[in-house]
This record gives sequence, C-alpha cells and structure tokens, in this order.
Amino acid sequence: MLDLHIHSTFSDGTLTPAEIIEEAEKCCIKGIALTDHDTVAGNSEFLETGKSSPVVTIAGVEISADFSHPEESVNHGEMHILGYFPDWNVDTEKALAPLSEIRKNRELRNPIIIEKLKELGCDISYEDVQDFANNDVIGRPHIAAVLEKNGYVKNFREAFDKFLSKNAPAYVPKQIFSTETAISLIKDSDGIPVLAHPGSLKIINDGKFRWFLEFLIDCGLKGIEAYCLGQSESETCRYLSFADQYDLIITGGTDFHGSHKPDIKLGSGFGNLRVPDSCLENICR
Ligand code: AMP
Ligand code: ZN
Ligand code: FE
Ligand code: FE
Repeated sequence: MLDLHIHSTFSDGTLTPAEIIEEAEKCCIKGIALTDHDTVAGNSEFLETGKSSPVVTIAGVEISADFSHPEESVNHGEMHILGYFPDWNVDTEKALAPLSEIRKNRELRNPIIIEKLKELGCDISYEDVQDFANNDVIGRPHIAAVLEKNGYVKNFREAFDKFLSKNAPAYVPKQIFSTETAISLIKDSDGIPVLAHPGSLKIINDGKFRWFLEFLIDCGLKGIEAYCLGQSESETCRYLSFADQYDLIITGGTDFHGSHKPDIKLGSGFGNLRVPDSCLENICR
C-alpha cells in the first residue's frame, strides 16, 4: 500500500511530517509522499525523519493551476498539479523558491475573506487564523476551523457549505500560476509533474479530456493520479487507460489532511483505496 498525496501542518493538514511517518508505520504503508499546498518547507523534516523508518519517503508539493474549462457549460472544475522530487537536495528547494509568490497572494486574499465573513456576521480575527495555522500557507481550511472553534458553524463542512466554497458568499479566488508555469516550475526543479485527482477537472467528454490532457503533456506533464478518492472504479479505469495511451506514469493517494478530513485514513482513504506498490517504482526509477 502507498499514499502519494498527503498534507501536513506545513499547509492545511493537522499532523506534522514526523507524525505522518509514524502513522504510516502503524498502517503498514510501504511508501508515502508529502504534497503540501504551495510549499516544500516540510520536506526536509519529512526526509530526515524518513531515514530511520522502514517507510519510503518522497518529497513533493501540490500546486493549484489556472484552468479554463474546455466544456463551456461547466465552469466549476479545478486543477491541481502534484510534483514529486525523488532526488531531493538543497538545490531543489532553491529552484522551487517562486512558490513564495503564491503564498504572498494568499496573504492578500485572506483578509478579504475575513472582511466578507464579518459582513456576514462572523466576527473572527485574522490573527486568530494565523495563530491557528502557525505556518505561511494559510487557507480556507484554517479559516473554517476558526469559524468552528468560535461557534459560528457546527463543523468544517458547514463552514465550506455556508461561507467558503466556490459558490458561497465569503469565497474569494486566489491568484495562482498558469498551467505552463506550474508544470515548468516542477520540471525545472528536477521534479515529476502529475495531474492530481483528474476528476476535479470535471471534464466529462472523453474527446475534450483527451484534448486537454494533450495540452498538459505539451506543457511537460508526466503522470496522472489515477488512484484517488471520490471516483468510481470505471473512472479509475478511464484514467488508467489514458495513462497507458499517453505513456504517463500512474500515481495515487488519499489527499490526507488529518483531522480536517477525519473520514479519510492515511493509505486507505474511506477504507478501500489501494494504491499499487508499482506506483512507487514509477516515481523512483
Ligand atoms: P485554499 O487553498 O485556501 O483555497 O483551500 C483549499 C483547500 O480547502 C482544499 O485543498 C481542501 O483541503 C479544502 N476544501 C476545499 N473545498 C472544500 C469543501 N467543500 N469542503 C471541505 N474542504 C474543502
Ligand atoms: Zn488541502
Ligand atoms: Fe488537490
Ligand atoms: Fe491535496
């Protein structure tokens, strides 16, 4: 079993990299990758702790990229690009320094969300959110948690449904990289760019999916996360078949966030995800 899509306290997960490794050992997971949003700051702790563990640890990142939907009637898809760095070294971190631009953009967006929430009757302070997050990738999950803590919502889900999700009243889009920039940043840092949870693109038509995938491959995409949560077996087969046709590597993971998404277990997701061990060889070869 593997889990190649994991968030830690360095972005919006609730376990530290070391705790993630400990959890992976308990769950008998063979290999894991840390893929925090917009930061690689957790990778050194992750790899260092991994040295004394039987679990194989791979450095990574997850970057949101600008996405224009090819099916005009649908416009709510999102695209995330995962980057894997099997040969992580000091130069990798330097090469990925432009990620700080996205983190700065978050700092512009968050106070606007807080302001909108205030207008909607939720009086939380940005300082509280910053204290809660305790890192520099502050996002909607942290705001959701503070809303819950202050009793404005019953739980995390309600925070998103009522206020923070894309069509809700406190939603503010974040400035993100273009597809080309996100993929080349990973490639130029000796990383492997992989399309995360391809279902979130919400491209239903096969021809259009193919057309878009070809565009991503032209940008330098090398893989597709065929094994992930929230999709049927036939959808998994759809992505496996695209991988085969376009000679893309296959990866998979749960998108683990710790107690922010308590139903999702490391490695097995809702209980039945099994990412084949061959996916590790795809990344490490
Ligand atoms: P941000 O990067 O600040 O826009 O936050 C995005 C993160 O919020 C995602 O990676 C998820 O962890 C979480 N998220 C987005 N939409 C939802 C939702 N509807 N319910 C729960 N969590 C969500
Ligand atoms: Zn997240
Ligand atoms: Fe994602
Ligand atoms: Fe993720």
